[in-house]
Amino acid sequence: MQTKDQKPLKIKLEAELAQLSHDIITVVTASNQEDYSQLRLLLLTQPQSLWPELLEGKSCGILKQKQHRLEQVLAALGQFQMGLFGLCAQCDSAISPEALNHDPATLLCDQCLSQKRNGVNIS
Ligand SMILES: [Zn+2]
Repeated sequence: MQTKDQKPLKIKLEAELAQLSHDIITVVTASNQEDYSQLRLLLLTQPQSLWPELLEGKSCGILKQKQHRLEQVLAALGQFQMGLFGLCAQCDSAISPEALNHDPATLLCDQCLSQKRNGVNIS
């Protein structure tokens, strides 16, 4: 289900990806943590799709938040590539347009999301 309506959402996601990349580089550059200079080099030479892996275990605080968001945005863009955008990653039902407009990186439908929030194990 890939409709014209979803195109602005993709543009939004791509813009957020660019912003996140910029933020992550800024945080890594501004930090005086020693191993970050090496990390920065890696980030600048590797595609963004590998960034969550590169950041894994190295990020804390704000960088960890950015890393998680980056993973979400990349996953949503991946859904676009596969033509699955707007479908719940858990149960394949359609995610409501309201939820997608609120956050285009939403990967779960309202039902699965509330189950997750309530701590129900849905894996
Ligand atoms: Zn679902």
